Amino acid sequence: MPKYVFVTGGVVSGLGKGIAAAAIGVLLEAKGLRVTIQKLDPYINVDPGTLSPFEHGEVYVTDDGCETDLDLGHYERFTHVKTSIVNNYTTGRIYNNVITKERRGDYLGNTVQVVPHITDEIKDAIKSAATGEYDIVLVEIGGTVGDIESLPFLEAIRRFRYDVGKENVVYVHLTLVPFIKAAGELKSKPTQHSVNELREIGIQPDILLCRADRQLSSDVKRKIAIHCNLDPDAVIAAMDAETVYEVPLFFKEEGLHKLLRKKLGLTKGEPDLSVWENVVNRIKKPAHEVSIALVGKYVGLKDAYKSLSEALIHGGIANNTRVNFHWVDSEDIESKGAETFLSEVDGVLVPGGFGSRGIEGKIEAVRYAREKKIPFFGICLGMQVAVIEFGRNVCGLGANSTEFEVNAKDPVIYLMEKWYNHRSGKIEERTKDSQMGGTMRLGAYPCTLKEGSHAFQAYHLKEIRERHRHRYEFNNKYRGVLTKNGIEISGLSPDGELVEIVEIKDHPWFLGCQFHPEFQSKPIEPHPLFTAFIAASLKEKRELFK
Ligand code: GLN
Repeated sequence: MPKYVFVTGGVVSGLGKGIAAAAIGVLLEAKGLRVTIQKLDPYINVDPGTLSPFEHGEVYVTDDGCETDLDLGHYERFTHVKTSIVNNYTTGRIYNNVITKERRGDYLGNTVQVVPHITDEIKDAIKSAATGEYDIVLVEIGGTVGDIESLPFLEAIRRFRYDVGKENVVYVHLTLVPFIKAAGELKSKPTQHSVNELREIGIQPDILLCRADRQLSSDVKRKIAIHCNLDPDAVIAAMDAETVYEVPLFFKEEGLHKLLRKKLGLTKGEPDLSVWENVVNRIKKPAHEVSIALVGKYVGLKDAYKSLSEALIHGGIANNTRVNFHWVDSEDIESKGAETFLSEVDGVLVPGGFGSRGIEGKIEAVRYAREKKIPFFGICLGMQVAVIEFGRNVCGLGANSTEFEVNAKDPVIYLMEKWYNHRSGKIEERTKDSQMGGTMRLGAYPCTLKEGSHAFQAYHLKEIRERHRHRYEFNNKYRGVLTKNGIEISGLSPDGELVEIVEIKDHPWFLGCQFHPEFQSKPIEPHPLFTAFIAASLKEKRELFK
């Protein structure tokens, strides 16, 4: 039977609970344990697919085509966990399941209540991730202790310990220990309050992770321990880190692995974190630097491009290079021109996105990168605008996507009438109604690469699998004219029907892909396309300075 580690958060949101959970995963995996991580989110949306990236950050897509919370991205980047539908549940999904069962008559005669029906459903959700493959199931509870919404989740995990045995469960609570300048000291009161709140619900945390901007003295640790009913060694400092990949190293230094070993009855042995030490060294002391422009719509909230910015950092790690980000709002390019923002960067990236706002600015960014021969990487919408730009400015077409212009003269990007629904496993007709929700190509699909292309040179593989999240596709009617003018189609679905990667031949490195490679990049295994893009940007920069 697996053991369970529950991670809750207190005082304020945004303390990095997802990173903390992922870093605990690193420590446990480094001890040779098989780990999985699950996120329980208190909001009512059934999944985060419909949430605005402005508000909630990026939607992370799993191999099996689920739209999930961005914390699952942290889990996959830090550990070997491959997340799927069982790794993210929301209040909405839990209630949906209970209401479906109620309508089916499963609870006939009973009044359906939060306790025990909702809490039982939550416990079943936790168990759904706990298959025999795993030694440890880490469960992160979204939100902050004290929120109305998270109560059923906390009640469920409280009861869980009784169900599976005390020795099989550890509660980890992440709090804030602020430094008050005027007093010149770190304050433990918010942590005390937050732990009190947990204890009122019946949960005594076993380990406290205290977020602070500096080291916690043994006095502060002792004070927190006394007030929170803990041993001082169970109070762990979670100091601000220069890079998130340093957090597992900090935790080990603080002895978190020993605590977990004791509390969970694990075997002895130090976790080997040498790969993480290398990652951190390369990030902190790189040999080179490049400037990459990200031309998008959600640049105000960096979390909207979390996996993407991490993947660029990974590409940097592979090239021993620091990546300096230039966030460019594509609407600013529309008003001030591409030259203003792109004249000094070494590479241009246009990421995924939805809707017509700022599209012309993105097209302009592509034109600039193509004409000035700056390495260009287009992802999903970024590939689509690259095709539109080439269609318009090289082939002389009235090119557009039907997403932005329903009656475009040359719809080089369009909605296919039939599409393969990953979830149902069937080819489905696209009706007018179905164009709104639930009709996206989601999850991992195979793609065959053309030998000799930049894509092939990056992957060194004939067949790859990458994750998708989009509705529109490359229109095969325009393959002829686009390729005749210099587009190279370097990635196709195995049946040859769907264009997955386009490149431009007469350019140092210009690649657009219909999928999202950023979802599969890790610091210890940087994604080949990001590695190649940063390498190309570095090479072009060096040539400039020759
Ligand atoms: N809006 C585009 C589509 O739906 C691209 C989506 C994306 O970039 N993820 O096809």
